[in-house]
Amino acid sequence: MRPFTYTPTSTVPAATQKLKANPNAKYLAGGTNLLDLMKEDVEKPTELIDITRLALTEVKTIITGVNKGGITIGALGKNTDTANHPLIRQNFPLLTQSILAGASAQIRNMASNGGNLNQRTRCPYFYETSMPCNKREPGTGCGALEGINRMHAIFGWSEACVAVHPSDMCVALAALDAVVKVQGADGKERSIPFTDYHRLPGDSPQKDNNLNPGELITSIEIPKNNFANTSYYLKVRDRASYAFALISVAAGVELEGTRIKQAKIALGGVAHKPWRALEAEKFLVGKEATEANFKQAAELEMKSAKPLEHNEFKIELGKRAITRALMQAMTGGKA
Ligand SMILES: Cc1cc2nc3c(=O)[nH]c(=O)nc-3n(C[C@H](O)[C@H](O)[C@H](O)COP(=O)(O)OP(=O)(O)OC[C@H]3O[C@@H](n4cnc5c(N)ncnc54)[C@H](O)[C@@H]3O)c2cc1C
Ligand code: SF4
Repeated sequence: MRPFTYTPTSTVPAATQKLKANPNAKYLAGGTNLLDLMKEDVEKPTELIDITRLALTEVKTIITGVNKGGITIGALGKNTDTANHPLIRQNFPLLTQSILAGASAQIRNMASNGGNLNQRTRCPYFYETSMPCNKREPGTGCGALEGINRMHAIFGWSEACVAVHPSDMCVALAALDAVVKVQGADGKERSIPFTDYHRLPGDSPQKDNNLNPGELITSIEIPKNNFANTSYYLKVRDRASYAFALISVAAGVELEGTRIKQAKIALGGVAHKPWRALEAEKFLVGKEATEANFKQAAELEMKSAKPLEHNEFKIELGKRAITRALMQAMTGGKA
């Protein structure tokens, strides 16, 4: 690890202004991803701006505005506290399930909500500094494109990068139509719809998201929905715990009688960002909530997948995972 300055802060303006003053600085939240990357010499900040004292930990009901009746969760809230908060367990169990499917209890106790959004890819070539990687060093090439790419993307990738976003929580937030609230050094606040927050790689894979330099995530808003009891987060991984998703599915189905009024489906482990399954969602509107229809929706969604040499298996896995997540959603995961 290289030497760096440590700067504690206690207000949002102080934090954002410190970052503006030093473009080589980084915010430090739980440190569970950033410190690992510093030890591996992948991230090389000259200053860590400690934001853990910012008063941004609250979970509360939104009482005005377009997302009235939903909830807002603070960026510095711990993943564990967020998952177990009664408002979330009751109204957004999809979010609880997704967070608890990630990492380990110890890591979730340290990890923050904002840090979870901004965690970096787990592509092994990104961590291995002797290998080429356009995300780590733009212009050097992509080790995974022709390498071992079993864990990598099947949607939205480019020749420049085939990495996937590793978060579980973000997959649920995408299906829940969350909004990311951010603030810059000029004091201006922005609201970014979740599906616009993370980026596809294009030719600038070094940029994971659409934050402007220096912006700080302050909270995440989740609008009210009508599928708390008909939603499910399914994570398929190589072993039962402590592994990133091969594929994950966040599914919420709003019913009108036995018919589907709307479906919200997002996939993890398949793209550089949480992938909204728009084809499947569109197909399901107005259909009966049957396994046959869920299978057809899954077939449609996976039709446009473009596998790499080692991950063709993700297409069949994706079809089965989407179908199973939708079936489980019908009982809120209780059957
Ligand atoms: C062994 C292991 C297994 C894991 N398994 C999983 C898994 O299965 N699923 C999963 O989803 N995750 C998993 N994780 C990742 C873990 O969830 C993340 O490391 C964690 O959520 C990051 O949060 P943090 O607060 O520690 O972020 P930090 O490490 O402090 O920060 C991460 C990045 O976010 C930036 N940042 C932090 N807060 C803000 C903010 N408010 N505004 C702007 N930028 C900010 C930092 O500057 C940094 O660039 C695993 C981690 C480990 C170590
Ligand atoms: S997939 Fe992306 S992160 Fe992985 S080596 Fe290629 S450029 Fe780097």
